[in-house]
Amino acid sequence: MANYSGGCLCGAIRYEVKGEPVRAANCHCIDCRRVTGSQFATNVFFNVDDLAVIKGEPKAYRHTADSGNTMTKWFCADCGSQLFSQSTGNTAVKGVKLGSLDDVKEIRPGIDIFLDSAVPFADPPDYTSHFGRGPN
Ligand SMILES: [Zn+2]
Ligand SMILES: [Zn+2]
Repeated sequence: MANYSGGCLCGAIRYEVKGEPVRAANCHCIDCRRVTGSQFATNVFFNVDDLAVIKGEPKAYRHTADSGNTMTKWFCADCGSQLFSQSTGNTAVKGVKLGSLDDVKEIRPGIDIFLDSAVPFADPPDYTSHFGRGPN
């Protein structure tokens, strides 16, 4: 029994997650803004073994992040919805775009990161820890 399920806008890709998130972060970096087309991305990180694509095959796009790590971002090639991301800096987890989840249940972001590059009106909530760049 999966704890979470989700998918893309057109329904071609569906996934399930059996565990609980390792962490959830609002990321205000330029890359996350561009890829989502929004003011920031909320990425929910799960252990890679807990995440299973059960329908369709997401397309992968790879790029180099500021950190020098290679990022892979998976999305639906039909409707363009962003679904997952992974960094070579930590291959134990994959980020799931919060907006792709069917039901976020009790998931709440714990941190706001890369606030140095946030748009002026993207005030982070009081309940998260705030970082100018990464959390370390
Ligand atoms: Zn789709
Ligand atoms: Zn980011």
